[in-house]
Order: sequence, then structure tokens, then C-alpha cells
Amino acid sequence: MDQTPDIAIIGAGIAGLTAALRASEAGLAPLVFEKSRGPGGRLASKRTQDGTSVDMGAQFFTVRNPRFRALLADYAGEESFGLWDATLWHENREGEVAHFHQALRHVGVPRMTAITRALADGLPIQTGTRITALTQAPGGWWLETDQGQQGPFPRVIITAPPEQARDLLPDTVTRSLELESFGMLPCWSLALRFGEPLELGFDGMQLAHESLGWVARNASKPERGSAEWWVLHANSTWSATHRNADSDDVAAAMTTAFRQRFDVRQTATDHLVHRWLYARPAVGPTPGFLSTADYSLGLCGDWLAGGRVEGAFESADALAATWFGQP
Ligand SMILES: Cc1cc2nc3c(=O)[nH]c(=O)nc-3n(C[C@H](O)[C@H](O)[C@H](O)COP(=O)(O)OP(=O)(O)OC[C@H]3O[C@@H](n4cnc5c(N)ncnc54)[C@H](O)[C@@H]3O)c2cc1C
Repeated sequence: MDQTPDIAIIGAGIAGLTAALRASEAGLAPLVFEKSRGPGGRLASKRTQDGTSVDMGAQFFTVRNPRFRALLADYAGEESFGLWDATLWHENREGEVAHFHQALRHVGVPRMTAITRALADGLPIQTGTRITALTQAPGGWWLETDQGQQGPFPRVIITAPPEQARDLLPDTVTRSLELESFGMLPCWSLALRFGEPLELGFDGMQLAHESLGWVARNASKPERGSAEWWVLHANSTWSATHRNADSDDVAAAMTTAFRQRFDVRQTATDHLVHRWLYARPAVGPTPGFLSTADYSLGLCGDWLAGGRVEGAFESADALAATWFGQP
């Protein structure tokens, strides 16, 4: 690294990468810390044994904000994302099924993480580094990591979910930023592989089912290969009730629910399961972002801006505009 980092960013999801790119544009030297092996966060794809990439987190995203489109085009490149031209259905509480509303749906190509990998290219990122605490000293913020202390950083941006952000911060800061008013809901995600295509007549469906909230055919997205993987997301209520259940039991229950709901006769030949403890924001305030008055500590992420990928971008973009000025 040529320059001493002057801003630490915790998390390399869409919010953290947006914040890091905006900091660079403002002439600052960011350093991103990410606890996982790579960037992406909840824009997540898992590689299966047959070589397919299955989207286990976000399924698609909107690009309504021209600033989001510009960031994707400038830093990720037009080839890393595309439209998901899919037949999507929506089921209401009465069990009536209709076509899903018509917003253009974008996906990463050939997998969701293609976008975050491309945005991260060229940014200094310490992956595999979990931040465990922040302490403020005269020179700035010190970051406690699982590999020792780093700092001081004059500025820090946290993009972890609110429950995890609270664990990092002194109580006085948590209280002054009113972090207790935010929370996230869990989601169990299951991918099932079938030997033959399932002829269900749709590519994705939002459900009003007692356990399932969403199902989608992974191969209907661009460049996902032809293997017949279906992604199932349990709804928030069921996921919360089964938060601590055994993952094999969860997979079995969700598989049965899917086969019964859609009268699927085939049995799955492979599966992947993942529990998102902090999947979507609970209903709460949406201030856009949070910042201390001296602009030394900021928080951004989807949970501050109504959820979703585009919300995560907008949260980070708004924090950056306030701290660094509009580029
Ligand atoms: C199952 C599921 C389905 C979804 N479907 C959709 C959808 O269809 N459309 C849509 O728009 N959105 C969807 N979303 C939401 C979307 O994925 C998120 O809104 C968006 O990805 C959030 O980005 P972010 O940067 O705010 O947070 P994240 O992506 O969660 O990034 C935070 C990062 O911080 C890292 N981190 C956390 N704590 C620490 C620490 N202490 N030290 C270091 N690193 C840390 C994490 O590892 C993570 O990489 C879905 C989410 C889930 C889970």
C-alpha cells in the first residue's frame, strides 16, 4: 500500500465497497476489513460440486437510481451484471397467483458476486479479518481485530448489520446513535438440485406459504449453466422460529414443503443450506445513514435505507456525499 490508510471501512458488501470507492474518489486512502474470505456479503453465490454457482442470498436487484447505474458501469463494468428476463409470480394471502410487478430485475453475471468482485478490484481489502471492537483515542479510532490491533484511523465506516455493529462500539456511542432501534430478521436459504428440469411454469415465485417465502430456478438467470438448481428461501417468521434448528432438519422441512406445494415428484439429488442470521431489516426507522457529529464514525447499509441491494448503495452514497461532498 503506497498511502497510510486514513479511513477504515468494516464490511465488503455493496455498502462497504461503495463507501470505499467514494472515499477514493475524494482523495482518501480507504482500507476495507472483511471477515469472510472474499467480498460480497449478502450478494452471495455458492459453488456446487457440479461447478454451478447458486445465488444463496440476494436474488436480483433494481437499478433505479442513475448514480447506482453509473457506479456499476464505471467500476464493475457492464459485463458483470445483466437483466434477469424471467417469468415471476406473486402469491397473495388468499392464495391467488399473479404476475410479479414489472420493475427491471438485474443480476450479477455469471454469478451475483461478479459485481462485488469487480467493484473490489483495486481496493485495498483485508479479507479474513474480523473486527471485534472499536476504541476512540486522540489520534482516531483503533480497530481490534482477531489478529491484533490496527490504527489509529481518523475515520471509520461500519457496514455490519446493527446487531453486530452494536457489539463493536462503546455503549455511549450505541446510545447516542440510537442503534437499539434497528434490527434484522433471519432467513434460511436452501438450494436443491434435481436431475431433470421441473416444469413449474415460472422461474421465480414470491409465496404466502407457512414456511416458504421465495423459490427460484437458478438456471433461468444468465450464464448459470443448465443444472436444475432451485433456491428456496423460508419466510422471516418461520426462519425466526427455526433460528437455532439443525440445518439438516431445516433442509428436510423446506424440501417437503416445496415438493408438496408444487406437487414435485422428483427427489433432489443434492442440496446446499445456509442460515442468514441477519437477512433483512425489521420494520424500523430509515434515516439513510448514521454519523457522529465530528464525522469520525459512520454507519451505512441496507438496514438504514429500507433494505435491498439498491438501498445499501444509497445508504453508503448518502453518507459519502455528507462526509466527502458530492463527486
Ligand atoms: C436470503 C436473502 C435474499 C435477499 N434477496 C434480495 C433481493 O432479491 N433483492 C435485493 O435487492 N436484496 C435482497 N437481499 C438483501 C441484500 O442482499 C442486501 O440488502 C445487501 O446485499 C446488503 O448489503 P450491505 O453491504 O448493506 O450488507 P452486507 O452485504 O451484509 O455486507 C456487510 C459485510 O460486513 C461484513 N462484516 C460484518 N461484520 C464484520 C466484522 N465485525 N468485521 C469484518 N467484516 C464484517 C460481512 O461479512 C459482510 O460481508 C436479500 C438478502 C438475503 C439474505
